[in-house]
Amino acid sequence: MTSKAALTCQTLLDDAVQRITSDSPRLDAELLLAHVSGLSRTSFRAFPERKVPAHVTDEFQQLVAQRAQGMPVAYLLESQEFWSLPLRVSNSTLIPRPDTECLVEQALALPLPDAARVIDLGTGTGAIALALKSERPEWGVSACDRMDEAVTLARLNAHQLQLEVSVTRSHWFAQLPAGHFDLIISNPPYVASGDEHLEEGDVRFEPASALVSGTDGLDDIRLIIKAAPAWLNAGGWLLLEHGFDQAETVQDLFISQGFVGVECRKDYGGNDRMTLGQWPRKGACHAN
Ligand code: GLN
Repeated sequence: MTSKAALTCQTLLDDAVQRITSDSPRLDAELLLAHVSGLSRTSFRAFPERKVPAHVTDEFQQLVAQRAQGMPVAYLLESQEFWSLPLRVSNSTLIPRPDTECLVEQALALPLPDAARVIDLGTGTGAIALALKSERPEWGVSACDRMDEAVTLARLNAHQLQLEVSVTRSHWFAQLPAGHFDLIISNPPYVASGDEHLEEGDVRFEPASALVSGTDGLDDIRLIIKAAPAWLNAGGWLLLEHGFDQAETVQDLFISQGFVGVECRKDYGGNDRMTLGQWPRKGACHAN
């Protein structure tokens, strides 16, 4: 298709749908055209014959070509909504997933103090920390990530959303300033290095450092569970996202570290997706 004549929204979208091979070509095409044209998705249905200026067409077709190669829509739009918050994303971080909103829901349901101190480890875009702060302004929410790009991005998101979350560069707990938390929350990398799922769809374009964690996917989860007690207040909670088939192993790790009330929770798809446990209050016995 030549991009010189002014083409209609409908022509552009129909052509893009033929080229995009994702599960949702129409939606993807509409999101990309809305992004470059400034028009709403509903307007494409109401006014399909509307003509699009040639420079917008060119920009759209470049994005469609990248999407046809598999580049995630969120990276092309440089944004992704999470917990109704518009977040800037970049290809140096994981794209926030809807299922991670379940982790936020679980955190909000915990019996935490009014002014709880909370940290989101490996925050990426800042998604979890910002969602929590948006719901509980009285909480002291901090976040860390070991990647400079992620720290910059999370700070940018906090600034744009005017949510007071302090973001530190730290590999898990290693560079954190001393302190104790009522909740440690994380969506760490948990995919096994040989997992064939890494060769499919959007994850091919996401940083391996945000996805992969050793041969069984549990290297970082083991490290976090082991280190967490030293950073928790008595009665504080650890809440981790993990793979759908890792619940039993993760629960065993929590229990052998001395956590109590260890339970698994499901994601929107009914998968065992997260585990939580409480660090015992004084007087309870700490197993190692
Ligand atoms: N749930 C993600 C996926 O399977 C992985 C996210 C992660 O490793 N934290 O794509």
